Amino acid sequence: MAGSGYVGRFAPSPTGPLHAGSLVAALASWLDARAHKGRWLLRMEDVDTPRTVAGADQTIVQQLSACGLRPDEPPIWQSQRGALYQSALQQLVAQGLAYACTCSRKDIEIALTALGHTRARHAELVYPGSCRHGPLRPQAPAHAWRLRTEVLLAPHGHSPGGSAHMSWHDRRLGPQTQDVAQAVGDFVLQRADGCWTYQLAVVVDDAAQGISHVVRGEDLADNTARQIWLQRCLGLPTPQYLHTPLVLGADGAKLSKQNGALPLDVSKPLQTLNTAAAVLGWPAQTGTVPEALAVWTALVAAHGGSPVAP
Ligand SMILES: [Zn+2]
Repeated sequence: MAGSGYVGRFAPSPTGPLHAGSLVAALASWLDARAHKGRWLLRMEDVDTPRTVAGADQTIVQQLSACGLRPDEPPIWQSQRGALYQSALQQLVAQGLAYACTCSRKDIEIALTALGHTRARHAELVYPGSCRHGPLRPQAPAHAWRLRTEVLLAPHGHSPGGSAHMSWHDRRLGPQTQDVAQAVGDFVLQRADGCWTYQLAVVVDDAAQGISHVVRGEDLADNTARQIWLQRCLGLPTPQYLHTPLVLGADGAKLSKQNGALPLDVSKPLQTLNTAAAVLGWPAQTGTVPEALAVWTALVAAHGGSPVAP
């Protein structure tokens, strides 16, 4: 499309059909791309292969299409892009920024207890850096790869130096900061079972697809600091970020399949879209789906280009 460098994306995990919460993020990213006269891409985040459900990717494409949300290029599948992730990892290893880690969860718990802190962050333990100077168990049958979050000397090339104390601006949430070394520690890029992590895959693919604007659910906001640090380590550009409001389930937690989110009903796509638009603060529409999308796109453009109403 002429005149706009905007490239946005929707990146669902095909672990099941879309539900009401995931459509909000899809609609927000689509509206943002259209209001900026940009392109909108679709990426299947299926690197966590044990959780991927066969056929869910096609169901998602059909659900989006029924709602008038069609990508400008054919979708890509992360499960087919291992070579790209491998070459990013090799670059980080060559720069001294990634290292092999043989720790089990138990090893990490023991090390944290010895350090006198057992603080868990969500279900994740803050990695204490046990393997930073060589694997704790050199004979271990398999190892993960972790990214350093503290780098004393910039080794060479475009490596960042310093520590991963990140500050960035979220278009909806405003100024954000996180000290990644404190909050998560050196984080995993490839698991010991060979699976690529979300962090590595999303950073490599956002850059490879030329994504200029990331619009996604607020539950993912906490990953942003790690992703910006990884972008810097790889010498990649940082997109603009906007995190959308979440749809909460009956238990007050983010709506998910685990707390009873139903697959999206696309037999009445306008009704389904109106529900999603209401979460973003836009008024319900009558008429056809393309008409509704055009009205909301114009509203987004008229309200400073934010897909979430002020
Ligand atoms: Zn380790």
